[in-house]
Amino acid sequence: MASEIEILGSRFGLFLSNKQIMDRIKLLAMRIREDYLEKFPLFLVVLKGAYPFAKDLIQAAGIPCSVSFIQLSSYEGFMSGESVQIRIPLTDSIEGREVIVVEDILESGKTLAEALPALQKQKPASLKVCTLLRKPHLLRFQVEIAYNGFDIPDAFVVGYGLDYREQGRELADIYKLTTSGST
Ligand code: 5GP
Ligand code: MG
Repeated sequence: MASEIEILGSRFGLFLSNKQIMDRIKLLAMRIREDYLEKFPLFLVVLKGAYPFAKDLIQAAGIPCSVSFIQLSSYEGFMSGESVQIRIPLTDSIEGREVIVVEDILESGKTLAEALPALQKQKPASLKVCTLLRKPHLLRFQVEIAYNGFDIPDAFVVGYGLDYREQGRELADIYKLTTSGST
């Protein structure tokens, strides 16, 4: 794995290796397995960034479940945007289901702070959040996180599903912005 990469003129340094990510996911998956073994949970994956995390998490949990997708968006370039849009709506009913929302990263918390009440209206039996990354110092909205992978510093990260301007999602490891080429 490269210790440094460049995307669209911005430089990123290695931050979390795939091994570190997978080790942490195994622990989260074990907890989810214990909590949901007989509950046939519905993993609601927030596209696009959470897809590799969701795939590894759900396989590691290894329990009967269903999987559904939603796409929310609030991010342009390096900056969290002003309003949250639903780009791909829910296609499956979550009524009466034990729902685990799978997110890539929480920054301000705004995306989920807006999306969770909308999901709650559809009357799931329970609604929990599992996020791979969280930036605790930038959290501005109250969002309860049941399962958290890593607390990270206030830096922009790419890789393992996370993009910079739609690039870098294919990287197996997570990289952190070191030198910005533009804003
Ligand atoms: P929030 O609404 O919590 O401020 O932002 C959450 C969303 O912004 C995440 O779901 C993610 O899509 C995006 N985001 C936040 N921080 C980063 C980051 O460091 N890198 C990338 N690629 N996306 C981020
Ligand atoms: Mg996201």
